[in-house]
Amino acid sequence: MRIALFGDIHANLEALEAVLQDAEEQSCTHRVCMGDIVGYNADPFACLEMIRSTDWPVVKGNHDEDAAGSHSLEAMNPVAATALQWTRDQLSEEQREWLRNLRMVRQVEDFTVVHSTLDQPQSWNYVTNKFDAMSNFSYQFTNLCFHGHTHVPRIFIRDSRVGEIESDSVEIEPGMKYFINTGSVGQPRDGDWRACYAIYDIPTSRVYFRRVEYDLATTQQKIIAAGLPEVLAERLAEGR
Ligand code: ZN
Repeated sequence: MRIALFGDIHANLEALEAVLQDAEEQSCTHRVCMGDIVGYNADPFACLEMIRSTDWPVVKGNHDEDAAGSHSLEAMNPVAATALQWTRDQLSEEQREWLRNLRMVRQVEDFTVVHSTLDQPQSWNYVTNKFDAMSNFSYQFTNLCFHGHTHVPRIFIRDSRVGEIESDSVEIEPGMKYFINTGSVGQPRDGDWRACYAIYDIPTSRVYFRRVEYDLATTQQKIIAAGLPEVLAERLAEGR
């Protein structure tokens, strides 16, 4: 069994298609989605339909929740709020209902999946260092947990202490806990514009990140054509 784990797609259809194609070429047998299917980019309808038409496990992201809701977006940064209001208008009530009903946490095989953290999934906390990761580990009952939300691929580990492994792959050892951010498909923020996801190869107990080029120019053109803030197109090229 070889599982592709991907999230923070953010309505970037070209990046999603490229990742799914790569997962196919990498002989992945299963797929799991870490949430934030919509928000920011120009293809929320198509991305949502592509995921919804499968039986892949999916967890809810904060942008999924905001796009599904009708609460005010005033507290949010203006660019994200503009994109989310636009996204709400693109989705049908039935699609928004589907997003609303997504679960916050799921267990798949021998691992757990959450968009942000296990300690307070509804608070959408960001894990940007090992101290942030500590509170998650107290609530992590499987050796391995995958998450997203910061759009930066990272590997946190707990044995006697919490630390971070700076690598693009890791071997999962018994007795240790791992909290792995699979990066972002549709809006990476680690300085690399290419779509990011992770593969968990169960027979060899290895997790590794993949970076995949996609048709960035088309994604950018769609953002401009939709009337979304231009900064959303620019940041994709910079991976931030
Ligand atoms: Zn996100």
